[in-house]
Amino acid sequence: MLSRTALLKLADSPRVEKFVKKNGMSSGFARRFIAGETMEETVQPIIAINGKGMTATLDYLGENVYKKEEAIASVDYYRILFPYISQQKLDSNVSLKLTQLGLDIDYSLALDNMKAILDLAATYDQFVRIDMEGSPYTDSTLKLFAELWQERKNVGTVIQSYLHRSERDVLQLIEMGARVRLVKGAYNEPETIAFPAKVDVDSNFVNLMKILLEKGNYPAIATHDPEMIRQTKEFANSRGIPASNYEFQMLYGIRRDLQEKLVSEGHRVRIYVPFGTQWYGYTMRRLAERPANVWFVLKNLIRN
Ligand SMILES: Cc1cc2nc3c(=O)[nH]c(=O)nc-3n(C[C@H](O)[C@H](O)[C@H](O)COP(=O)(O)OP(=O)(O)OC[C@H]3O[C@@H](n4cnc5c(N)ncnc54)[C@H](O)[C@@H]3O)c2cc1C
Repeated sequence: MLSRTALLKLADSPRVEKFVKKNGMSSGFARRFIAGETMEETVQPIIAINGKGMTATLDYLGENVYKKEEAIASVDYYRILFPYISQQKLDSNVSLKLTQLGLDIDYSLALDNMKAILDLAATYDQFVRIDMEGSPYTDSTLKLFAELWQERKNVGTVIQSYLHRSERDVLQLIEMGARVRLVKGAYNEPETIAFPAKVDVDSNFVNLMKILLEKGNYPAIATHDPEMIRQTKEFANSRGIPASNYEFQMLYGIRRDLQEKLVSEGHRVRIYVPFGTQWYGYTMRRLAERPANVWFVLKNLIRN
């Protein structure tokens, strides 16, 4: 079976992407993880999520654009998306990636695009989460976030527990009063900067979770790992931290049983709902997290 590293390498292969995209959506390859290819297709899944007592964060898929026009086109998309969320009365905010807004082309292009998006979001009383990408972007993402934060507060970001540096970053973000989503991390990172062993990634996740729950501003604990969730609940209980001070987040299509169980226990749960045609990289990262899913996908491709 394919390894996590091999799958993450395939995530960057345009040739495999072309093949999979030709066969993908129709065969159900991406359907497991992607709510739809258009915002209209995504409305029903979000209504269903809201109906189960959960909120959502919509991710209009796209990353690593290398043309300025594409980055501008992404900004234009949010001019339609924010009013649409409001018209459809969806209980959902937005998550996005800076490389979709031109971070690979020019830092100030991405910064200006983010400012435009946050100003637009503010008119709809909306919050925008900047996802954290691979380590070549960690510094620039945090720098850009800090610049935005000076003037705009409807924005948050993400910290990955697999990086050695993350405790320092979390403490800085807490000092600023910023909202942090804590995740384990989804990219291929060298051992020089990231913990290679799951046990260390998990232990750092628990360490950062505790810091965020005690001192952070409405942190999001984003994981499907029952042990991470158990430890979060136990820590919150032991410190008398109310469930309204933080939220759990999970990805669309993963561990629905756990999502619903948390809601039934009185916890806040937000589902990350990706949509759009640029689903290849996102879907491959989900497969890499659980290579057993590859078999499910191959069966669909063979059937097609
Ligand atoms: C809301 C949200 C936002 C995220 N944003 C980012 C981000 O901005 N940057 C970033 O680097 N990463 C992000 N991630 C991904 C994250 O870094 C992990 O790669 C991912 O959540 C898997 O780790 P885990 O905590 O669920 O634990 P794991 O130890 O990987 O998994 C625990 C259990 O969860 C289930 N599970 C996990 N993944 C899958 C899957 N793909 N398919 C089926 N079952 C699965 C399995 O039962 C598994 O045993 C995000 C995750 C979530 C939930």
